[in-house]
Amino acid sequence: MPEIKKYKMFIDGEWVDSESRKTFQSLNPENNEPWAEVPEADEKDVDRAVNAAQIAFEGAWSKLFPRERAKYLKAIADQLRENAELLGKIETIDTGKLFKETKTQANYIAEYYDYYAGLADKVEGTVLPIDKPNMQVITTRVPIGVVAAIIPWNSQMLLTAVKLAPALAMGNTVVIKSSELAPATLFEFAKLIEKVGVPRGVVNIVSGFGEPCGRALTSHKLVERVAFTGGPETARHIIRNSADNLSQVSLELGGKSPVTVFEDADQENALNGITAGIFGASGQSCIAGSRLYIQNSIYDSFLEKIVTRANKIKLGPPMDSETQMGPLSSLKQLEIIEKNIKLTIDQGGKLRCGGKRHAMSNKGYYFPPTVIECDNHNLPTAENELFGPVLSVMKFNDENEVINKMNDNQYGLSSGVYTKNINRGLRVSNAIRAGITFVNTYRLISPSAPFGGMKDSGYGKEAGIESIKDYTRIKTTWFNTSDKPMDDPFTMG
Ligand code: NAD
Repeated sequence: MPEIKKYKMFIDGEWVDSESRKTFQSLNPENNEPWAEVPEADEKDVDRAVNAAQIAFEGAWSKLFPRERAKYLKAIADQLRENAELLGKIETIDTGKLFKETKTQANYIAEYYDYYAGLADKVEGTVLPIDKPNMQVITTRVPIGVVAAIIPWNSQMLLTAVKLAPALAMGNTVVIKSSELAPATLFEFAKLIEKVGVPRGVVNIVSGFGEPCGRALTSHKLVERVAFTGGPETARHIIRNSADNLSQVSLELGGKSPVTVFEDADQENALNGITAGIFGASGQSCIAGSRLYIQNSIYDSFLEKIVTRANKIKLGPPMDSETQMGPLSSLKQLEIIEKNIKLTIDQGGKLRCGGKRHAMSNKGYYFPPTVIECDNHNLPTAENELFGPVLSVMKFNDENEVINKMNDNQYGLSSGVYTKNINRGLRVSNAIRAGITFVNTYRLISPSAPFGGMKDSGYGKEAGIESIKDYTRIKTTWFNTSDKPMDDPFTMG
């Protein structure tokens, strides 16, 4: 049995165990074996981290010049680039995500820190055209305070960057809770935070479960802002928790993103986009394009091409550069997928490929690319977020019909349209109630492109210029420019 790697939490600039000394293990999805052990935080540890963050906030951090804070963000970016290989490796062992993707992502995520470093000194206030004599009124953007960042197990470096970078740039301090399913990468990241000399308490990273750690953090009285990414059920807890501290909440939740292929689409391009959308990262992406609508006239032939492509995808160990799909992150995930596939087949869904655990599943959680034809999109695989490589395929006749079908789901995160007719691309994009639409492409991110959903996919946007303002509050200051005393103090001016 290989040696278990032991991590400590990063609180107030120190590496600490939980006060209770409790720990838990993280499993490697490739072989279902424990490989790392991390502290299990409870209320006391959370309290310590939040207090450290509050002291750091009131101390120097919020008072630094924005460009001084930006220097730290740039230094974090440099460290990410230098350590992308190590971070990628740890994330791959912890989550099963392909090393070629985790390494590339760790490197690219540096751009997010650079982006927000550049924005740090560009958030301006206003002078108001006020309707009162002798008054000069200004607004300024001030930091909020302690931010709680709740991170899921997937794409954690990215989902940390889009919260941490704007929060720090604007002068807030942060307590990050890693996912219990994959806690290790963020502790490797904490080593980089320490290395660049971010003042103690400004960034704190704790590990634990939703209960009590996540609850204690999101309801802590000193937390003013909660940035959450995860599933909708957890989001409901977060909102209830925020009733205790009246914190400002943003929610990046799941999706059941629809993709449509019109008869005039460039089919080779659509095939690549669909493959990226549902089989990239083994379908474990919040923007996975998991509902596919194909126009009637090309339905049979195009579906055949998808099935042929899916059957060629190479499953294997996630560190192997030849592998195209690695294991799923957890057994629970695999079981949810199997259950939904069974229910769908029971209700008339036609399995075209995949659908059963892969032979490698005896050790790890491997699941093959799966394509299911569904007569209607209310069948379980076509309706529920599965977080796996399962594509549900439906037919449509015309544009209006497909728009209605695409919108007929509780989620509204992402969507895709394949057509050579740019007018139609625009019309469909405008009509889809989703935070993101990809036209003739899929699964792209950028620091300058806002990311987030509508409907049950949550609210608040991450990345892009606007999101930095979500880490500030507007403060209004009135200056009396008159040398005379105030008028009647008993009437409001
Ligand atoms: P999850 O909701 O189970 O867990 C997310 C985080 O919330 C974890 O750190 C967990 O410990 C914490 N948590 C659980 N209960 C809590 C509570 N009561 N109070 C506070 N925190 C609590 O999600 P997951 O399984 O880790 O991730 C998968 C989900 O995340 C999917 O639904 C996926 O679509 C979504 N996701 C969304 C985006 C996006 O940007 N929209 C990105 C990635 C993942």
